[in-house]
Amino acid sequence: MEPIHFGHGTRIGVLTTEPVGVLDYLAPEGGVLLGQPVLCPLGPRRVMGIVWGPGLGDFDVAKLRPVLRTLDAAPLSPGFVDFLGRAAEYTLTPLPLIARMALRAPDLDRPPAARKVIVPAGDPPVRMTEARQRVLDVLDEHGGASFVPSELAQLAGVGTSVVKGLVTAGTLAEIEAPRDLPYPRLDPALPGKPLASDQQAAADALRDRLRHGGYGTTLLRGVTGSGKTEVYLEAVAECLRAGRQALVLLPEIALSAEFLDRVEARFGARPGEWHSGITRTERRRLWHMAATGEVGMVVGARSALFLPFRDIGLIVVDEEHDSSYKQDDTVYYSARDMAVLRGNIEGAQVVLASATPSLETWVNAASGKYDRLDLRARYGEAELPDMAAIDLRAEEMPGGQWISPTLADAVATRLVKGEQSLLFLNRRGYAPVTLCRACGQQVGCDDCDARMVEHRFQNRLVCHQCGATKPIPTTCPSCGVEGRMAPVGPGVERLAEEVAARFPDARATVLSSDLYHSARALKATIAEIAEGGTDIIIGTQIVAKGHNFPKLTLVGVIDADLGLQGADLRAAERSFQLMRQVAGRAGRMPGDASGLALLQTHQPEHPVIRAILSGEDETFWDAEAAGRQAAGMPPFGRLAGIILSHPDLAVVADFARMLAASAGPIAAVGADLWGPAPAPIARIRGRHRFRLLIRAPRQAPIQKAIADWLAPIKLPTNLRLSVDIDPQSF
Ligand code: ADP
Ligand code: ZN
Repeated sequence: MEPIHFGHGTRIGVLTTEPVGVLDYLAPEGGVLLGQPVLCPLGPRRVMGIVWGPGLGDFDVAKLRPVLRTLDAAPLSPGFVDFLGRAAEYTLTPLPLIARMALRAPDLDRPPAARKVIVPAGDPPVRMTEARQRVLDVLDEHGGASFVPSELAQLAGVGTSVVKGLVTAGTLAEIEAPRDLPYPRLDPALPGKPLASDQQAAADALRDRLRHGGYGTTLLRGVTGSGKTEVYLEAVAECLRAGRQALVLLPEIALSAEFLDRVEARFGARPGEWHSGITRTERRRLWHMAATGEVGMVVGARSALFLPFRDIGLIVVDEEHDSSYKQDDTVYYSARDMAVLRGNIEGAQVVLASATPSLETWVNAASGKYDRLDLRARYGEAELPDMAAIDLRAEEMPGGQWISPTLADAVATRLVKGEQSLLFLNRRGYAPVTLCRACGQQVGCDDCDARMVEHRFQNRLVCHQCGATKPIPTTCPSCGVEGRMAPVGPGVERLAEEVAARFPDARATVLSSDLYHSARALKATIAEIAEGGTDIIIGTQIVAKGHNFPKLTLVGVIDADLGLQGADLRAAERSFQLMRQVAGRAGRMPGDASGLALLQTHQPEHPVIRAILSGEDETFWDAEAAGRQAAGMPPFGRLAGIILSHPDLAVVADFARMLAASAGPIAAVGADLWGPAPAPIARIRGRHRFRLLIRAPRQAPIQKAIADWLAPIKLPTNLRLSVDIDPQSF
């Protein structure tokens, strides 16, 4: 697609980042290309925008104002502009919000200033201090990146004088960087690892599809450790050879230095990195390099999908079932679905990699809409861990104890052999419930409809919805009786207590996201575990993600029933994915040690437990799909949620009823409206929430129906309405 050029003085539509959306302007001197980021006058202000197309309004040309100037950025590609519009249409997101996501580069509206950046220059200083070492470590960790001095100092947690001192010492140098430095080139000609035969077949298939050009989506399926990453890196190589750009999306938590090292080992340089932890300088640099095509490969979290790649040829969504790909805030979107949309529009190949695909992807692969490639075994190994259920009904379990005798024996065996055990419990904190033994009242959050969770390390109760904390009460806030408040149920911190009591000589480590103040601290702990620095890992779902612990041979799931109940139709699917992932952590030891996964359950005959134990994943997915089909639920029917919130319960409840009563356009396309009902979490941060659910037949024009329905509705002051197309929980 050749970008369209608008000559000086012609009428153009500019998508602004302001609520007004698209406005007409006159093209500036020299004309302007479609997709060009520009600065426009809006009343007395100047606002950013994207040249969106020919102007549409019938506003008098004579009264139109010209664009102030083009911003110092390459135009967004026509394909990307098209994608932004279609993404807004699909998710029913107001265009200005989408424009903001697309114009994510810091300081885009400022002229480029020459800046001084710090680069490595010479030998370590004669006088090495801890602070100096930290600065050098940060530079090392961000190999190839450049920082302005203050930023580098901040990252290292030292004063700017430390950085200046290293410049004086000649270890670092300060250089003029007139613009953002290009990324080192990745070299696809470097040899990859020799592949196993099923890996080779999968890599060949992907390579073929890339050579053919155009869009296609492939499910790359294989258990953790089967070598999926090696395979899709070959697809990246092919994409780079074709001179196009590749994007690999990872769940945020998996964005580790280990992965970047792997890319570097394969291609001789690190890819661009995009996630919440990168600096403003990096953010700016990567955004611009994506737009000019000067970065070949980007590894990022979900929002990387809205980077302005000049020519995207491949999008990999690793762990495609991961719930972190769904954004449920401001803009509601699934990065996995948007990847498929973008691939389709821009002629890119999309690879969805997972051991436990989402039901949507499974069904699309089964119907032939997606291609499917399977890696059968673990690389270099033949077997999954052995699996068994521990029937808790038959175990001696005194109160306050959650490790059954059978599981305890298995842990003890591992301790003797010097192998590691993982006890998995997807509950942060010490105890999920704090209640008064006198009146039975549970302590809840003041602002949310949620119980407060005791966190003993912090010595506070914490709301997992809004993060509010309060002291652990000794007197019941409800009945005033003193000394009867008690924690009920286990969290990982409490489990750690049980481990310490039962295995006093074992080294135990708790892995829970809230216990690590920084990604770096978490990384360090993970590295220590991998090196064998602990005997028993006690972890929440953070352990399910791709960390490789070579000495881990036993996984004990403390409460396999935890996710099985609940009104949520995805409960079974989610539980299945999580337990399959966790169980897969066991038994990566080469040689004879085969892994063992034990699931503690009260219902060993539950279909999810049976599927996990038997390893017959297909049977599970097929049964799950049949159930959804019978109910007309996704992916066979469509769902959309309308979430309403307001500080005043009566206001939101009345409005929700009024909205439901005016839903003619929804009925007209054959969709059902359910509700209004209090949302699954009925109050968050002091706002009462109601939800309406729409279930529509697969082909119904649901977005248009919702838009028609909502268009004439006036919202009461301070009422928030968001539309969630394809909600994750229902
Ligand atoms: P997955 O992405 O399916 O979890 P990986 O690609 O990470 O699997 O592979 C698991 C481990 O096996 C990694 O340490 C990887 O380096 C190694 N590995 C995979 N394929 C090969 C190969 N063909 N040759 C050598 N090592 C391999
Ligand atoms: Zn709260």
